[in-house]
Amino acid sequence: MISRIDLRGSLPENLRDVLPRAELDVEAALAQVRPVCEDVRHRGLAAVRELTARFDGVELESTRVPADAIAAALAGLGPDVRAALEESIRRARLVHRDQRRTDTTTRVVPGGTVTERWIPVERVGLYVPGGRAVYPSSVVMNVVPAQEAGVPSLAVTSPPQAEFGGLPHPTILAACALLGVEEVYAVGGAQAVAMFAYGTEECAPAVMVTGPGNIYVAAAKRLLKGRIGIDSEAGPTEIAILADDTADAAHVAADLISQAEHDVIAAAVLVTPSERLAEAVEKELPGQVAATRHSERIAEALAGRQSGIVLVSGLEDGLKVVDAYAAEHLEIQTAGARDVAARVRNAGAIFVGPYSPVSLGDYMAGSNHVLPTGGCACHSSGLSVQTFLRGVHVVDYTREALAEAAAHVYALSEAEDLPAHGAAVRARFGGGTR
Ligand code: NAD
Repeated sequence: MISRIDLRGSLPENLRDVLPRAELDVEAALAQVRPVCEDVRHRGLAAVRELTARFDGVELESTRVPADAIAAALAGLGPDVRAALEESIRRARLVHRDQRRTDTTTRVVPGGTVTERWIPVERVGLYVPGGRAVYPSSVVMNVVPAQEAGVPSLAVTSPPQAEFGGLPHPTILAACALLGVEEVYAVGGAQAVAMFAYGTEECAPAVMVTGPGNIYVAAAKRLLKGRIGIDSEAGPTEIAILADDTADAAHVAADLISQAEHDVIAAAVLVTPSERLAEAVEKELPGQVAATRHSERIAEALAGRQSGIVLVSGLEDGLKVVDAYAAEHLEIQTAGARDVAARVRNAGAIFVGPYSPVSLGDYMAGSNHVLPTGGCACHSSGLSVQTFLRGVHVVDYTREALAEAAAHVYALSEAEDLPAHGAAVRARFGGGTR
């Protein structure tokens, strides 16, 4: 059901290459999404509607979800899900509010200051996936940091569902209502990213698009990056678990399964120095998989080349392996889990000890679940308030402070053979521009 990779003995130099990972060929998908994006760029709304008919099987009259449909979705939301979403929003707000930055002013010299001002982006498009599964939790994870950052204009888009009259899933609409989001579109895939990048007759262009999605969404974000800002490419989900003999095999198996449930190309990786735990988890998996609702999808994800049990000589090597892998989600289920977790350098989010499973983080920990996948956690962070802010330096020098720096400016402008740079300063002190 899940393969083993034995790295006991010395770890290979090319550690990253021997670890299990999905081959997600975003480059190949680029060729597919380029004409989609070009079509939206040139023909706007008409193109979005045609592409939606082709890829989602839905004929849209309007891409914008009417206000009464959003209100009706909230009215129809079950009380348990409503309470859960409200609590999820409350916890996410607590964490993301603490991420807000204050402007800082540095007095570089008397009369010379640099202030770093944090300014939210003007307008963002937030993508909420909705192909295979429905993710109201992703509405929360996208919207809360953007709102806490103070983004003045934000819109959500999610694929239309034929069974719900061509609207996004009602739970997604209800989550938008709970968050006070009024601008919602029933568009998915690459065409949704292009709609935000170029704008259409119904949707004003955004300067940034964030949120997870499938390979077409990721490819469109990569293609349009530059024209728009994007967060990291959050692709198919991944869980890595670093566990030793103290871990409960049933819990480890359940956690691997919980993320394999997302997608047939989701990755579930156990890294352990304990052969006994590896065997116990291998024994646990078939029964637990068979008993769960999406057993076929999960079995395929666990058997895929992106999943596996990695055996290592000890915890030290285990740490090297998880750092090389740079998982989107990393659980530490070892003795002294907090100390071990403190030594991890590369992960999208770290879940410490037996009572912090990834599922808690998916919904209710307060942390963000839009996280870098595919090893990008070694250079990128998950979605946060910071994603939506730009730091702008405000330079404010007096005449005296500029005079004090002038000689150095002249020297460097000569060294760079850019004499007009020096001249711009000299002109202020009666020296002419030559
Ligand atoms: P999706 O909304 O990303 O994609 C569905 C859209 O893809 C459809 O609306 C359709 O327009 C388009 N599409 C489908 N087939 C196409 C084709 N052949 N050509 C062009 N476009 C096509 O939903 P999904 O497919 O369920 O994928 C969601 C992904 O997001 C999963 O891989 C899941 O693991 C991931 N996810 C990641 C996170 C995270 O934080 N990293 C969170 C939630 C979900």
